[in-house]
Amino acid sequence: MKNRRDFLKLGALAALGASIPGCRKAEQPQLEAFSGPLDPLRAYPYRGWEDLYRKQWTWDKVVRSTHSANCTGSCSWNVYVRDGVMIREEQAADYPRISADLPDYNPRGCQKGACFTEYVYGPQRLRSPLIRAGARGEGKWRKATWDEALTLVAGKLLDNIYQYGPDTNTYFSVIPAMSPVSFCAGSRFAHYTGGVFCSFYDWYCDLPPGEPLTWGVQTESCETADWFNSRYIVLWGSNISQTRIPDAHFAWEARYNGAKIVGISPDFNSSMIHTDLFLAIQPGTDTALALGVAKYIVDNNLYDAAYVKEQTDLPLLVDKRTNRFVRPEGAPDRFFFHDAKSGKRVEAPGSMGSKEKTIALNGADPDLHYADSEVTTVFELLKQKLSPYILESVSQTTGLVLNDIRQFAHEFATRKPAMIIHGAGLNHWFHNDLINRSLILLVALTGNTGKNGGGFNHYVGQERVWPERGFRAYAFPEGVRKQRMQNMTLWTYLHSSNKDPHLYNGKPIEHYIEESIQNGWMPIYPKKRDQKPRALIVWRANYLNQAKGNEYILKSLWKELDLIVDLNYRMDTTALHSDVVLPAASYYEKSDINTTDCHSYVHPFNRVLDPLYDSKPDWEIFRDLAKKMSQLAAGRNLAPYHDQQFDWQRDFTKTYDAWSADGKFQKPEDGVNFILDGSPETKGMNFEQLKQHPLRFQKIDEEAWNSDIREGQAYTPFQHQVERKRPWRTLTGRQQFYLDHPWFLDFGEQLPVFKEPVADPKYPFFWNTPHGRWSIHSTWRDARYQLRLQRGIPICYMHPEDARERNIQDNDWVKVFNDNGSFVSKVQILPGEKRKRLTMYHGWERYLGFLQGGWQSPTVIKIKPTQLVGGYGHVNFRLNYWGPTGNNRDVRVDIVKYMPTAADLQAIRRTGKGRA
Ligand code: SF4
Repeated sequence: MKNRRDFLKLGALAALGASIPGCRKAEQPQLEAFSGPLDPLRAYPYRGWEDLYRKQWTWDKVVRSTHSANCTGSCSWNVYVRDGVMIREEQAADYPRISADLPDYNPRGCQKGACFTEYVYGPQRLRSPLIRAGARGEGKWRKATWDEALTLVAGKLLDNIYQYGPDTNTYFSVIPAMSPVSFCAGSRFAHYTGGVFCSFYDWYCDLPPGEPLTWGVQTESCETADWFNSRYIVLWGSNISQTRIPDAHFAWEARYNGAKIVGISPDFNSSMIHTDLFLAIQPGTDTALALGVAKYIVDNNLYDAAYVKEQTDLPLLVDKRTNRFVRPEGAPDRFFFHDAKSGKRVEAPGSMGSKEKTIALNGADPDLHYADSEVTTVFELLKQKLSPYILESVSQTTGLVLNDIRQFAHEFATRKPAMIIHGAGLNHWFHNDLINRSLILLVALTGNTGKNGGGFNHYVGQERVWPERGFRAYAFPEGVRKQRMQNMTLWTYLHSSNKDPHLYNGKPIEHYIEESIQNGWMPIYPKKRDQKPRALIVWRANYLNQAKGNEYILKSLWKELDLIVDLNYRMDTTALHSDVVLPAASYYEKSDINTTDCHSYVHPFNRVLDPLYDSKPDWEIFRDLAKKMSQLAAGRNLAPYHDQQFDWQRDFTKTYDAWSADGKFQKPEDGVNFILDGSPETKGMNFEQLKQHPLRFQKIDEEAWNSDIREGQAYTPFQHQVERKRPWRTLTGRQQFYLDHPWFLDFGEQLPVFKEPVADPKYPFFWNTPHGRWSIHSTWRDARYQLRLQRGIPICYMHPEDARERNIQDNDWVKVFNDNGSFVSKVQILPGEKRKRLTMYHGWERYLGFLQGGWQSPTVIKIKPTQLVGGYGHVNFRLNYWGPTGNNRDVRVDIVKYMPTAADLQAIRRTGKGRA
């Protein structure tokens, strides 16, 4: 034996029972060789494998919690703690059952949530406040005390307010439903310091703009248990097996209840394998398919005439010369239909200007087909608009087989209830509003909206804060009218060098933006247009990594900002490119609540352990920032600042007093109880009760909701309208498919119409960045266990034929590029991918495995002119309800094989980039 290594090798072989040539003891391997001073494990406290094994299933305490990553899951978990360490989690499976006739929500979870205990201790975890010591993004930091970091931030915010105005300080956080108390901690701070509060739901393109346009709501969907009630489920651009892991079972189980499932998606993904009919549609042509189906339904008299007459604007009269609705003189919010029974023109009840607060027809019979020399109906105009969508031409546009389209159209019209599950696959297109409207038209024509098992159900983003009244009072205490609200798409576009080269009706988008701002339809801050934003505070979000037009932002906005602050529990791309990083507690180290549109329960985050390292819950960080601001303002003898926009004397020596409501809010649980108590959905509940198990919402805030929570029934929206005849929240009081706003008329979009994607035809491939299985956006993108379940680096998926044409092989480095930017990553050849499309599941951090750029490098912000309108009944700017969306799918790119340079190879060796 030459050395110690050989000795250990032999010992190991012996332990495995291997035969060691020349060794007499080989037949009976002995472990004694490892005893005494030769035992390499002698300093290790767990002496034997039995000990380790037995202790794996012991713990000191179990605490309920969940995750808030905008996954829409809102799943109940138990977290196990031993010796002060969170060792594992387990699904709690304690949702009270809605009905024995429905599958229940237990157990609920996904593989990301199942390893969060590992993630919180990972190397990406932030441990102490950091102040930048190199260039932004360089990764050079120095540790700071909390006092130093907060003094720097509060001081700079005060400087900005007094020198440039409070609207130069901008705040960005997302999705209150996933942890409203954490959200409100920052929104209250922005509120009392006059800062600009930015939207997120439209910016992330989760908002389906067709819903505010057609229904006057932000988003209304059934809870996922209601999928089981459907007889026909259409997964339209939604890959529930990957993106709704806790809920997908409701759809698959619905097949045992007689449902058929149709999947519409360009690629054969993991949800499509469960479908009865798979339609491999050409990207961006979904509206053509929907309007073809609508035409089939109308032509074959398969529409629900009674429903359409009462619930939609299709019988309303339109002036043929102006294309405007027929209205009484001087009454922009009252409308008419022709009553077939009396033969007279009758005012439609329930519109915004109507005296009647019902849409009940009271015996009238609106004539869908009425037309004379001057007027016609919306229904007749719709028929004209649908005339080009004959199934043969739809087949050509969409690349689908004619018989498949016909089968789909016929089944959709005749199997009831039928629902569309709508996902980001459709909503991320530039013409998302037209897509939404055309799909909503299908469920309206067939009378499926407002019924269990039916409707158009959009699940993108965890948008639903059920206890909304209490939440609003906590988030913006003096009222939303005294808060500077900003659409984030517009803010980012105007404050960066993003430049959409397209012309819209011959004019650049800037023309429409300026007109919208001048008309007061959309706000832009800072209000003084010669000012620039100076500070950006980000919490509960990864703004930079997820931003469209990434390359432009990095070269412009990011250089212009004087201060970027990020509150975070991990070093993500935004944190890396910030000036000050404040370490936040993770989901398991704070108290809060969590709600989702996918189910009708509220449940808590409990503080499993005190915040790790030197981190603090974001609630405490904003509390301390408010205190620091008060202290600095007092120290500087600052006179109150007169905020002209609101005529508000802002006394910053009192910022903490205002933020804490004079000490009423001492801890996050106080905020939880305030929200619960202030909302009809949760009145009588408190945080202590929620600790026991999730509770289902009770009665509903009539003003805010469109259905009740009914015992024994899954929630589905719009029962108030369909059953109780309450007016829809639109100008006409009906599901409004006809929009006679001048801009909609100018663009020929008064009714749903198919328009080609707005993508530069110079490049051959659509760039597709869907939500994936192994992360929730960028969270868990850097998690060890998730990376092990895939190749572990950013991968661009490509069809084999496309790869062959470009001489690209699996696992090659490739460069993907267009005029906006480029990135270099590895490629995977995937037969299920659509030809002439490249896919990368989104969220990869820029620093994680790209040799150049990031997945957002080829994107540019494109604003749709009609999403800038306002001043039209129900269509007005409202944070996260109405405003331009940050769509990202109308992007084309090209791809070439990339040969790593010497510098690349060095980087690969140094960082491990590109190693699968
Ligand atoms: S990450 Fe979301 S979906 Fe997954 S277990 Fe947690 S709450 Fe559920």
